[in-house]
Amino acid sequence: MAAQQNPADEFTIGIDLGGTNLRIAAVDAQGRILERITLDTEVKEGRERVVADMCAAIAEIESRLPQANMLGIGIGVPGIINLANGRVRQSPNLPGWSEFPVRDDIERRLRTHVILENDANAAAVGEKWVGAGRNVSGLCMMTVGTGIGGGLILNGRIWHGMDGMAGELGHMTIDPNGALCGCGNLGCIEAYASAGAITHMAMAAIRVGRSPELARAAEDLGELTAEIVYIKAKQGDVVAREIFEMVGRSLGVGLANMINVFNLPLYVIGGGVARGWDAFAPSLMAEVRKRSLVARSTPTRIVPSALGAEAGLLGAAYLPRMYEEGEHGKNRRL
Ligand SMILES: [Zn+2]
Repeated sequence: MAAQQNPADEFTIGIDLGGTNLRIAAVDAQGRILERITLDTEVKEGRERVVADMCAAIAEIESRLPQANMLGIGIGVPGIINLANGRVRQSPNLPGWSEFPVRDDIERRLRTHVILENDANAAAVGEKWVGAGRNVSGLCMMTVGTGIGGGLILNGRIWHGMDGMAGELGHMTIDPNGALCGCGNLGCIEAYASAGAITHMAMAAIRVGRSPELARAAEDLGELTAEIVYIKAKQGDVVAREIFEMVGRSLGVGLANMINVFNLPLYVIGGGVARGWDAFAPSLMAEVRKRSLVARSTPTRIVPSALGAEAGLLGAAYLPRMYEEGEHGKNRRL
């Protein structure tokens, strides 16, 4: 439907509601960003403030596009969403938001159609719409950042599961007796391959005196981040390289399981850690080949995100085009 319309005449609003940044963009039918505003997410000021900031930014963007018609708003939220009532069920990054009727509140304030979605699902939609997955009917997206999220698109539709909780790929067990994960389970991928796990492993190596190089970098810079560990891996530091090999192997074990189960044509790795693709991809690919008969015998592709940090924002902007108005349970094919 939207494809026939003149892109200058209409747009949707995509919102990436992160725990740190609040990104709002007007996006046309081809996935081009027409206008954008990025703010700090004032989480400490409470949800009223964040919603007010969001609404003010949307009004500002609309005023910059006076000739165009806004079709609706899609919001990617870092947490578990109740799709039926448009509430955030649980979000560690947005304390105080649980059971808050975000969708209805914004719809009431702005008198427009609002759709909430989990942020990793939104990123999967973005990649499918205008990113790495443009030419496939199904894909699996893993967003590897501070934590690890996931989104599944099967036969052109988001796979929500029974009530929206499907795709928690970060909490796949890859070692039954492994490291403790934030979710309470032992041995989740998130405990081995997330940015949090990378810094955790680096700090553990520093504590036992295994990596003077990382210890020096942490001291010089006053902090230790996954990005610093990546830079050290690229410079040849053995411990940093081992950490990224662990990231690759862990993602590879999880992906091999996904590939064996789903036989999808495409698996996309996004999130901040995907920027370290060259440091972990060789061990990831080796692990997948070793563990997945399906990957060895089919043209399965595993690629880094094509949209990078924009995947979730663009996917959120596509949501109003994907759903029939008011019927959040029925998503159209992408
Ligand atoms: Zn877990």
